[in-house]
Amino acid sequence: MQAQPEASHYIDGAPAEDTAGERIEVIHPANGEVIAVVHAATPALIDRALDAASRAQADWAALRPVERGRILARAAALIRERNHELSVLETLDTGKPIQETLVADAASGADALEYFAGFAPTVAGQTIPQGRDFAYTLREPHGVCAGIGAWNYPMQIACWKAAPALAFGNAMVFKPSDLTPLSALKLAGILTEAGLPAGLFNVLQGAGTVGAALATDARVAKLSLTGSVPTGQKVYAAAAQGIRAVTMELGGKSPLIVFDDADLEDAVSGAILGNFYSAGQVCSNGTRVFVQRPLRDAFLARLAERTRAIRLGDPLDPETQMGPLASAAQMEKVLRHIEAARAEGARLVTGGARHGTTGCFVEPTIFADVTDDMEIAREEVFGPVMAVLDFDSEDEVLARANATPYGLSAGVFTRDLTRAHRMAAGLQAGTCWINAYNLTPLEMPFGGVKMSGVGRENGHAALEHYTRIKSVYVGMGPVDAPY
Ligand code: NAD
Repeated sequence: MQAQPEASHYIDGAPAEDTAGERIEVIHPANGEVIAVVHAATPALIDRALDAASRAQADWAALRPVERGRILARAAALIRERNHELSVLETLDTGKPIQETLVADAASGADALEYFAGFAPTVAGQTIPQGRDFAYTLREPHGVCAGIGAWNYPMQIACWKAAPALAFGNAMVFKPSDLTPLSALKLAGILTEAGLPAGLFNVLQGAGTVGAALATDARVAKLSLTGSVPTGQKVYAAAAQGIRAVTMELGGKSPLIVFDDADLEDAVSGAILGNFYSAGQVCSNGTRVFVQRPLRDAFLARLAERTRAIRLGDPLDPETQMGPLASAAQMEKVLRHIEAARAEGARLVTGGARHGTTGCFVEPTIFADVTDDMEIAREEVFGPVMAVLDFDSEDEVLARANATPYGLSAGVFTRDLTRAHRMAAGLQAGTCWINAYNLTPLEMPFGGVKMSGVGRENGHAALEHYTRIKSVYVGMGPVDAPY
């Protein structure tokens, strides 16, 4: 086993184990090898983690923000120093190619810690004059936050939740996906090494039942989930029982719209990045690629040419551009969607099959002549499968792009400046890219509308979701009572 952690969990500043919990084999999806074994958290461990977080939080919140920020910035520096080691671990755990994990996973996590380390000291309240009296507001942490992660960006998701939570004075109990449990443990160790007091960042392993235990516990004041819409509905409903604050980063079926005046090469780049990066396992992917009819044939020809050149293989090889899907179950699901697209009459341009016989590889796949009613245009595939649809006019494509219950992201490629901004205004999505796709800098808020979620991660917007406002009214004179 190449990646066995010291213990399954991290509680109260130290690794913690209880082998009574369900055994979870961690599998490298490129070859099926078991790289580690962890155990799901037992109720006793869940209790310990929540207790530790509750105990530690008040002292942490009482520090000056610049002191909290200093510790997070130190953790960011440690992550950067160990980026290679962390990236190899992430590649083993997820199967994503090392050329991606070196730049997009731990590095993005370090960005988050740096960003919120610097942001926290700038946060201030308002004073509200009331004549002789006045009021002011305080930004307070929620208390204990629970973070629940998906398997596609384990380290990034852990950091995007932990960094704002901790920076603003909360404690966190984080549950990674049971498919990718390893990097969050590294993050916990690094935070301790950087000086984070015990109890403030805890990691519990397990599947949905452990997540559900966190979602229903009275000690949890705020829940942040990254996952699918069905899980979001369950976690949101559980949070509603306790009227707890939530952030829901959920799935999507985002449109990427290519007008006939677009730069062809850039539009093809956007479509490839927005469908095949991380073997298509990106929530914001532009999986419905609408191409204006006059450009359609040229677009498909260049797209197919570049897609056929994508190098699949061992994700640890720096030359590999696309790795396997994260699990055999995900591969099977993607292959079923490919079959459904064929059966419904979509035209296969390239790909369309499993790649090789070892590991969970699927060929990068393009379907053309896709219509809005086909399953491939309606359901989130979460794999390297692009659906290309034709359109004629701006009004038509806007209406069709918005005709989905999802609203995570959208993209437009055009050289027409006013049209680009008209589209950005009209698209029902949390993020719109113009002549770009899938760039998610820390400074920019990220999240969804409609079924794709509530709340925002990153940017100044994260402050709204990891703090609450207290209003303080100050009476400066005699109390005026009519009785
Ligand atoms: P998932 O919904 O199956 O699981 C997400 C997490 O929720 C896991 O940790 C899982 O153990 C936990 N969970 C499952 N049932 C639960 C319950 N009842 N209560 C509490 N927790 C529970 O999602 P996944 O398959 O791990 O990830 C893929 C999905 O995540 C896709 O839909 C993708 O679009 C979405 N995603 C969204 C974003 C975003 O930022 N919007 C980012 C990455 C992934």
